[in-house]
Amino acid sequence: MIVLVINCGSSSIKYQLYKMPEKAVLAKGLVEKIGESGSRLIHKSDKGKHEAEVAVRNHKAGMSEILRILTDATHGVIEQIGEIGAVGHRVVHGGEAYSGSVLIDDKVLACVEDFCDLAPLHNPPNLTGIREAQEALPGVPMVAVFDTAFHQTIPPHAYLYALPHELYEKYRVRKYGFHGTSHAFVTHRTAELLGKPLDQTNIITCHLGNGGSMAAVKNGKGIDTTMGMTPLPGVVMGTRCGDIDPAIIFYLLGKDEFADPKKIDNLLNKKSGLLGISGVSNDMRDLEELAANNGGHPRAQLALDIFNYRLKFYIGAYMAILGQVDAIVFTGGIGENGSHVRSASCGNLSAFGIEIDEAKNKGTIRGKEGIISTSGSKVKVMVVPTDEEGWIATETYELAK
Ligand code: ADP
Repeated sequence: MIVLVINCGSSSIKYQLYKMPEKAVLAKGLVEKIGESGSRLIHKSDKGKHEAEVAVRNHKAGMSEILRILTDATHGVIEQIGEIGAVGHRVVHGGEAYSGSVLIDDKVLACVEDFCDLAPLHNPPNLTGIREAQEALPGVPMVAVFDTAFHQTIPPHAYLYALPHELYEKYRVRKYGFHGTSHAFVTHRTAELLGKPLDQTNIITCHLGNGGSMAAVKNGKGIDTTMGMTPLPGVVMGTRCGDIDPAIIFYLLGKDEFADPKKIDNLLNKKSGLLGISGVSNDMRDLEELAANNGGHPRAQLALDIFNYRLKFYIGAYMAILGQVDAIVFTGGIGENGSHVRSASCGNLSAFGIEIDEAKNKGTIRGKEGIISTSGSKVKVMVVPTDEEGWIATETYELAK
């Protein structure tokens, strides 16, 4: 079966075409700057990379452009769009309604629409992607794979905030967690690599990219995660602050330059994290280079220190709530490549049974799985490259076949 995976954002549509069950990637790419000047298509397949400026007025035109290039005489990888057997959609928020992926029907669409209130930046474009795909590919089964689903096994004592309970009942205020597709993929793959049944696997997953979150996984199921009702709390991120004292917001509201709450929202989401601390970059590579060269860059170093401190903090917390841990697993751009981060966050933890083998840690190869702890380390430390699109393709195939 040919499965098309769609990740639809406010101004872009990313796609990946798979042959299932082999999970062979036939093509991938994106249409970006939808509705803006300079909109373009980037398409990659065995036939090479194709980049072109194309006028893409809206998401409908974007979806047509994707289906056109997939069947294009020169760059295409299938003869006709009728060969697409199913479409998998990344959907950010599934609220409490979905603890797994689902075949999309009108009821699912209504739910995704209902959750727009909880994820105003993400669910509306996700919904547009589904509707445009349904219109372009009538009768083709579509599957929604939710970022929140993996975390639905978190128990109430971990997902509820210490707020009046009515806020949960009336406004759905609780921890939901995100990056679930990545945590789910990494959990399943780690159990395979450890040769353990999933329901006996206890791990701490660290998804560290521009956004970052960690999850405590007990017997294959999520029991806590660092993000919350929104993707803002938890570890330090590229431009997001992670955990802060909520009263800071009210303190800043009293200052002239932050009297408008939108400015604080922008500050916490776009100007904080690695960028805010360092004052120079949200990119881990830049900060590591700056901290290491020219006698060091104190604020780049401070950004790294706070980043690593917070990781270690949560590793300790999750060791405590899990009791027994098989492995700490790193993934995402920073998790897969950042040997310094892995070393700093897992270093000096031999009292907890965690011992990194520095030669293995530094010797990891991009995109490759591996164990980076010593052979005597009670808790294994691993690198498992994530594959969110592959996970969506598998979920879609399983439900559609
Ligand atoms: P996104 O969350 O947008 O998918 P990625 O998972 O690609 O992002 O992660 C981006 C982050 O990965 C950036 O901070 C980047 O600096 C970092 N990164 C990429 N390569 C390396 C590397 N070799 N060493 C350290 N960090 C890296």
